[in-house]
Amino acid sequence: MIIAIDGPAAAGKGTLARRIAEALSLPYLDTGLLYRAVGRRVLDAAADPADPIAATEAARALTESDLSRPDLRGPDADRAASQVASIPGVRAALLAYQRHYGDKSGAVLDGRDIGTIVFPHADIKLFVTASLDARAERRHAELLRRGENIPLAAVKADLKSRDEADRNRAAAPLIPAADATQFDTTHMDAETALAQALELIQIRVR
Ligand code: C5P
Repeated sequence: MIIAIDGPAAAGKGTLARRIAEALSLPYLDTGLLYRAVGRRVLDAAADPADPIAATEAARALTESDLSRPDLRGPDADRAASQVASIPGVRAALLAYQRHYGDKSGAVLDGRDIGTIVFPHADIKLFVTASLDARAERRHAELLRRGENIPLAAVKADLKSRDEADRNRAAAPLIPAADATQFDTTHMDAETALAQALELIQIRVR
């Protein structure tokens, strides 16, 4: 079974996807980590994440150990990930890894283009959203837990610009697949989101 969970930043995709995977005993892949790791490699090489040649080279050289680096979260990694993600060569280099991951024994994958490009025939497609204010508050709280005190307004502005870039890019833009179920978590806590998503999945696969 392939479960595709797409949506904008900080909408609750990651938590929901991980918990669905646990509940259904499926492997889980956070595909955002791939783009984050590519962005980090480019920054390490003192190159520009917007440079297609440098970014594509970094994506082709990506290894499993890059995905467990401790510095893949935070504003710099966010920005670099978003920049490399708009480069078609980067996306092409990461596609096979994602498909192979899911094809082994099924998976829950979260990202931006899982239901549209990576697994257009996924069994379940959820497009997870939440209001910008709710997403900014969640990301702000998450950053505080990690000891990063960034003003809420700056977190909100950053999310907004990253979403716009993800929605408006030519390569694999952030759009719901035609057959995706919209899932708005603005007024849900993680428990409620999990329960409702599992219910939806059960109805779909019955
Ligand atoms: O999901 P996360 O916020 O970790 O993703 C970081 C960035 O990677 C996103 O802003 C987006 O530009 C990119 N991304 C993508 N396609 C995916 C997953 C992430 O373009 N499937």
